[in-house]
Amino acid sequence: MKNLSILGSTGSIGVSTLELVATHPDKFRVTALTAGVNLELLARQIESFRPRLVSVLNEELARKLSRMLTGHKPEIMYGVPGLIAAATAVDCQMVVAAIVGAAGLVPTAAAIKAGKDVALANKETLVCAGAIIMDLVREHGVALYPVDSEHSAVFQSMEGHRSEDIEKIILTASGGPFLNWPAQKLAMVTIADALNHPNWSMGKKITIDSATMMNKGLEVIEARWLFDVPGEKIDVNIHPQSIIHSMVEYIDGCVIAQLGTPDMKAPIAYALSYPRRVSTGVKPLDLTLFSGLTFFKPDLEKFRCLQLAYDALTCGPSMPAVMNAANEVAVAAFLEGRIGFTAIPTVIEETMSAHGGVPLVTIEDVLRADRWGRTRAAEAIAALHS
Ligand code: NAD
Ligand code: MG
Repeated sequence: MKNLSILGSTGSIGVSTLELVATHPDKFRVTALTAGVNLELLARQIESFRPRLVSVLNEELARKLSRMLTGHKPEIMYGVPGLIAAATAVDCQMVVAAIVGAAGLVPTAAAIKAGKDVALANKETLVCAGAIIMDLVREHGVALYPVDSEHSAVFQSMEGHRSEDIEKIILTASGGPFLNWPAQKLAMVTIADALNHPNWSMGKKITIDSATMMNKGLEVIEARWLFDVPGEKIDVNIHPQSIIHSMVEYIDGCVIAQLGTPDMKAPIAYALSYPRRVSTGVKPLDLTLFSGLTFFKPDLEKFRCLQLAYDALTCGPSMPAVMNAANEVAVAAFLEGRIGFTAIPTVIEETMSAHGGVPLVTIEDVLRADRWGRTRAAEAIAALHS
């Protein structure tokens, strides 16, 4: 029996994780759940999974939740202290880090410091603080299992192999909804167009990141830290069918890939049950139904965000955190209708150009770079309107 704390239980990854817990009550139990603002769903999750502790965004929501609960009554906390309490709960063995954005960094770091294994969906944690987090993982002797489907595929393709023998990691990308749009048309993209992902159903922020291909850029940086491979050895292949989830090429020319129906329950289950496998209900893959699997190189001029992420890896330790902060601010502004789709890379690029790059030693240094990036990106957005 493994006791889980699920940070971000009301999100897309959180809900899929709880579906797996419900399928395997003999293997997984819930110690703590945390959510932002979706109290209705959280209240239903509390009834079904009976956690000991829950946390929500703020005090007002905590009081409201307390009034809503009629059956099981867990301890209710809020804010960052609540997230940290859930991430470090003495009776949990594994933390599922499924908050979106840099908000996931502090609780994930706290979980590692408390000796918890982590199933990591929150890629922004490694983008902002990869070197620091991997040092903490080594120092505290915990396991960090990737939930991101590409990184789970790489992890599975590396079983029994040594990092030194890797020639190249090849991350696959669906290409998102605008793969076949001409570059000039991107200026006309609406919010609904960008939220219409062809292969995956996900939270709004990552869906926009997939449309700009910043998601793949964040994943390149995530892979750099998870697998200790430099950016030059991480390639991206567009693979519109999303059947091969990523590949590893070795120095002897052999390539190992992981395939499956695109469904996040498969990589989540592998992170939860490693090194065992458990049933997931994911539709079996029938390759005979595909007339062909295709692969090609991404257009880095059309999808500038992907190039910016490669650049960030070479521009000093704080640049990925600044890039990530600018991306979060720009995506939020796009989703609120304040900027157009093509302004997203513009805002990120302007923010990065204004940043010198500073050393990062502590999580507080990372949070400072994150705040700097947010402020500068907000100024870049204001300048677009002046
Ligand atoms: P989502 O928006 O559906 O859910 C996010 C969760 O985090 C929600 O429970 C929300 O309440 C909570 N949350 C958001 N902001 C918060 C804050 N400031 N404080 C506390 N809680 C907060 O997101 P998602 O699609 O489930 O993605 C979660 C993470 O997993 C992201 O980092 C994403 O990049 C990564 N990921 C997601 C998928 C996917 O298929 N959805 C795939 C790979 C990786
Ligand atoms: Mg992914």
